[in-house]
Amino acid sequence: MKWYILESAEEQIIGQFDHNPFDDWEFKVRGFSTGSSGYDTKEALWEANHILPQPCIICKRWIQLHWIPERNQKLIERNMCFGCTFWDEKLQAMLQGTYEGRRKMVVNGCMYSIAPDDPTDDFKGFGGTKFQFLDLRTNTFIVSRNTWFNGEIPTVWLPAFPDTAIMIEGRTPFRVIT
Ligand SMILES: [Zn+2]
Repeated sequence: MKWYILESAEEQIIGQFDHNPFDDWEFKVRGFSTGSSGYDTKEALWEANHILPQPCIICKRWIQLHWIPERNQKLIERNMCFGCTFWDEKLQAMLQGTYEGRRKMVVNGCMYSIAPDDPTDDFKGFGGTKFQFLDLRTNTFIVSRNTWFNGEIPTVWLPAFPDTAIMIEGRTPFRVIT
């Protein structure tokens, strides 16, 4: 039996298995996208995967430091996992009303970002689909052909992100059904 760590968007599993569970179909269909090697002890797993001593203060996951140094530093400062750091950065930008923050639209618990619309740029969010939002913060209509999907806001973060906009025109992302 060896120790493994597996992660999906919804779950984190740390436990002992007699073979690498990441190879199992069951874990693939449950959306686990990263897994570790097997280790003889929990301590060895912790050390090899650079896991912080305290879990994420928001979602309680164990935090792995396997990113670039600047990103690792942010995770350490917040004691938050990668996903929670992502949402915390978005929240801070919105609360501070930065250029980025003002261009984030929260609609039905999903976040969309409006990027600058350069007509000469071929690489656009949603393939250049036209979006129109009513920004509830400023009561103005915003039209964009360069809208990007930041994702569904995780349940634990939803209370911090009330809807800030209504989508008048546009679409939700395509979903892959497994
Ligand atoms: Zn977290």
